[in-house]
Amino acid sequence: MNAFKQLGLEDHLVQAITDIGFETPSEVQEKTIPLLLDQDSDLVALAQTGTGKTAAFGFPMLQKIDINSRTTQGLILSPTRELCLQITNEMKLYGKHCKGLNVTAIYGGASITDQANQVKRGAQIIVATPGRMKDMISRRLVDISKIEYAVLDEADEMLNMGFFEDITEILSYTPKEKSTWLFSATMPKEVSLIAKKFMNSPTEVTVGHKNMGSKNVSHEYFLVGARDRYRALKRLADANPEIFSVIFCRTKRDTQKVAEQLIEDGYSAGALHGDLSQNQRDVVMKSFRAKQIQMLVATDVAARGIDVDDITHVINYQLPDEIETYTHRSGRTGRAGKSGISMVIVSKSEVRKIKSIERIIQKEFIKKEVPSGMEICEVQLKALANKIHDTEINHEIDPYLNDINTLFEDVTKDELIKKFFSVEFTRFFNYYKKSKDLNTQSNSSHDEGRSNDNSTRFFINIGSKDGYDWMKLKDFLRDTLQLNQDDVYKVDVKDSFAFFNTDVAHKDKVLEFFTDFKQDGRFINVEITEKKSRDRNRGGGGGRRSGGVGYGGGGRGRNDRSRNSGSRSDSRGRRSDSNSSGRSPRRSSDFKPSGGGDFSRARKSRRK
Ligand code: ADP
Ligand code: MG
Repeated sequence: MNAFKQLGLEDHLVQAITDIGFETPSEVQEKTIPLLLDQDSDLVALAQTGTGKTAAFGFPMLQKIDINSRTTQGLILSPTRELCLQITNEMKLYGKHCKGLNVTAIYGGASITDQANQVKRGAQIIVATPGRMKDMISRRLVDISKIEYAVLDEADEMLNMGFFEDITEILSYTPKEKSTWLFSATMPKEVSLIAKKFMNSPTEVTVGHKNMGSKNVSHEYFLVGARDRYRALKRLADANPEIFSVIFCRTKRDTQKVAEQLIEDGYSAGALHGDLSQNQRDVVMKSFRAKQIQMLVATDVAARGIDVDDITHVINYQLPDEIETYTHRSGRTGRAGKSGISMVIVSKSEVRKIKSIERIIQKEFIKKEVPSGMEICEVQLKALANKIHDTEINHEIDPYLNDINTLFEDVTKDELIKKFFSVEFTRFFNYYKKSKDLNTQSNSSHDEGRSNDNSTRFFINIGSKDGYDWMKLKDFLRDTLQLNQDDVYKVDVKDSFAFFNTDVAHKDKVLEFFTDFKQDGRFINVEITEKKSRDRNRGGGGGRRSGGVGYGGGGRGRNDRSRNSGSRSDSRGRRSDSNSSGRSPRRSSDFKPSGGGDFSRARKSRRK
């Protein structure tokens, strides 16, 4: 008997499963489907991404609802629009033999009227993001007062995104006597809290180790100077010509910048983050799924749960704030039985985080060297050779062959091969021959190659009391000052004040910017601090300005300056549209060094 039928699923659902091509139930499906079919209890299921959770709640829901009724009986809440659409499509697929089934997706950024009309026609199942759902409830465009099943999918992520209140409100419109099924990859405190609050002695199902990543993923890290991050990224890409990857950054701004830079350097890259319009995001995702984009640079939130098979590499351009997030990131690869690599680019100050991650994922990282220029030349050369070897001959060239053959009459095959490959090799070789070793030695000084003469240390009167840790402060400074990745360094956060360095070149900009800068009604003051020894003598708030005034600067929050995204001018004043997808990388030839790269003049001059 079919293994899914054995779980208790009806024939039309088993038929759909056969059509889709699932052969055996995954572990989470095996554990939850019989349980949910059998009883009307609440459920908490913990399983990492890619384990088939959608089907685990989808099939039981489809079996249990009354297709002949047009009342909304099932509600699935999910954190992002992408996931919402993905689940909707899956549900439709699973229910393809359920005559009269109507699954409606409700999410922001699309016509609310269209969605309301779809609901009005009788949606037995609604898949929604919390924000839009709340909106539609308050406008009385949906009625969830009769639902029998509520699913909280990716619950940890919904809470991460601050949807707690929305979820609470939405659920307050649902009847008490319903079943609530919560699915999550991790079980932080907030999730147990929500389980307590909304659920009635739920059955718990855990698949595998609670926080363990996929066993098909290997983990590698590369130790580089903080300012070599981008160069290291490029080398990792160049050393993997067939790369199909998601690159994670911590902030929307970095995400946008890295994507723009990659595009400028000739890679097929795209950005995915929350400041893009829905349309831009759709375009990027479509190109990525079609593999026209090889490198998708994304924030954690935007990429959460995205189900694209065949991702070869996940690259952590920066480590996430929350170590647990790493599990989600690396879960983007190694799916559907394939193997994948999760790479982390770290600077010295972050290297201890690797240890913490190892504890959580219960796997060891392999420390790898950033490939040298010559190694990359070799890889690229071999990739080209393989490609040529496997290329099918295009007979459109036949008419020209005579002339070509005449030209090469005196050249032996051996020579021809050498010449042919030299054309491409020389290009790459010239590009990389002067490149330096990017690897930082673990025992070298913490300075990451900065000379002190060229660096200014600042005092700032905000600290951990104000909610900053070193990463948050660094992000804040970079965003407000419009500086580049790694332009702010040596960030040292104390209770009520902090220190940081920038290169002397940015000194005036920093001081000028903070002359009258006010945040939340309070002046934020920055001063140059001479010696580290003076740090100790600083009292809390010692740098606060005594004089007031200057409303002019008050409004310059990070948002005003950093929201500009999608397509924008880069620091060189050129416009580049990160969402122009489908651009082929290395277009003129697959063996072309990618643009300015290690010797990018623009980058160098900014450093001076
Ligand atoms: P999760 O929500 O746990 O991250 P998904 O439900 O998105 O995982 O499923 C991940 C992928 O696995 C999807 O492409 C889905 O179609 C596929 N899948 C789900 N169940 C099975 C199964 N039993 N056999 C094969 N593939 C499956
Ligand atoms: Mg899912």
